[in-house]
Amino acid sequence: MDKISVAEARKAEAVGKRVCLQGWVRTRRDSKGGFSFIELNDGSCQGNVQVVAPGDLANYEAVVKHLHTGASVVIEGEVKASPAKGQATEILASRVELVGDASTETYPLQKKGHGFEFLREIAHLRPRTNTFGAVTRLRHQVSMSIHQFFHERGFYYIHTPIVTASDCEGAGALFRVTTIDPDAPPRAEGKVDYTKDFFHKPAYLTVSGQLQGEAFACALGKIYTFGPTFRAENSNTPRHLAEFWMIEPEMAFYELTDNMELAEAFLKRIISDALKFCMEDLKFFADRLENNKGLFEKLENVLNNPFRRVSYTEGVEILLKSGKTWEFPVAWGSDLQSEHERYLAEQHFKCPVILYDYPRTLKPFYMKVNDDGKTVRAMDVLVPGVGEIIGGSQREERLDVLESRMKEQGLNPEGYSWYCDLRRYGTVPHSGFGLGLERTILFLSGMANIRDVIPFPRTPGNAEF
Ligand code: ATP
Ligand code: MN
Repeated sequence: MDKISVAEARKAEAVGKRVCLQGWVRTRRDSKGGFSFIELNDGSCQGNVQVVAPGDLANYEAVVKHLHTGASVVIEGEVKASPAKGQATEILASRVELVGDASTETYPLQKKGHGFEFLREIAHLRPRTNTFGAVTRLRHQVSMSIHQFFHERGFYYIHTPIVTASDCEGAGALFRVTTIDPDAPPRAEGKVDYTKDFFHKPAYLTVSGQLQGEAFACALGKIYTFGPTFRAENSNTPRHLAEFWMIEPEMAFYELTDNMELAEAFLKRIISDALKFCMEDLKFFADRLENNKGLFEKLENVLNNPFRRVSYTEGVEILLKSGKTWEFPVAWGSDLQSEHERYLAEQHFKCPVILYDYPRTLKPFYMKVNDDGKTVRAMDVLVPGVGEIIGGSQREERLDVLESRMKEQGLNPEGYSWYCDLRRYGTVPHSGFGLGLERTILFLSGMANIRDVIPFPRTPGNAEF
């Protein structure tokens, strides 16, 4: 007898096999004919398999007729072709073993659907819901596609540090890492003395692996990172998490246009793999989520059309001419908000847009300054439904320009001397970008809130579980 998954048991090829299944009861229904139907799920696919438990099982009255939603069971039996509509197979059970019961009174996941906000309060049990099963399988597939895409193209996977003493963006929004006792910190000259701290200087959780990634790109050519990323911004939006996963490729001898090409091929590969391997789950998202009927049309459209490349300056002109009233006003030199990004991708161009050459004042010191002196070689990829999904740039490879940009942004080049060394010795034009994994899942699924596409979300005021 083979131990098989529900996904395998649902396939017609399984008919005739004696099998063992292990999983959780979704529902039980007792038939007047003296037998019961058990809908079994084990997370291997969106659908359940129907188990027919005959009345002559030894524990039928004592156990089977009391199986509750949420209980864990082991089922042995034979896979049969199912007469019922919508399923190829069912299991005729010869043994049903209750492993762990779940009380109908207290088990929070009853048959009917639950709101996502409620499910966040039981984030340890929401993996058992159809939606979170689908999200989890999709996240897995996307992660695999990312590794495969880069591996096939000769990129190396680099593990950059989580704890860092350099602030990549040169801005705030950092979580401090310290072993100093907050009630009795060592002091020097009236301030907390971080030279007495664990790392002998202030340290933080990383906001990006880019700077360290550049060191490896400037030696191994093409690398990527894929790891947890932390931002302490107090932004309570459906697109921001305090802890999220970012993928950051970095390539030596790459200009901005090479970078754009890679970003486009990368996103398209992720989409086409999702359509190939996650169809059942994508269909579930399209059918069950509000305002998501157009999911496949959206994905196909992005997959089959070239991304539009538009300069920031052109983008601003389009927004100014749009005649729309914005919550945040548009002006050359100010940052674009989600409403602007989405307007460009969803309404104006109706396809993904790569906005490039942003004002230098908006972007970090490491982005390459254009000859006009006013803009930098930045690029953001904007997609329908989400807005910014990728942020990237060509990096400044000229030491003198880099140092003056640091000073301009109030940073001390000495604090970044190792980073400057990459320009001091064998400098090359190089580029890279960051893709947010959760934003990618939002885009692919049509889920509305980023808290619902990561196993245990961390947001301002929330680090439960
Ligand atoms: P935004 O303007 O949307 O806040 P950003 O410009 O700060 O994003 P980058 O520093 O360019 O973001 O980060 C690269 C990518 O990481 C973004 O394009 C996005 O996909 C993702 N990302 C950034 N911040 C967050 C966050 N707080 N939560 C989830 N994903 C994020
Ligand atoms: Mn960005």
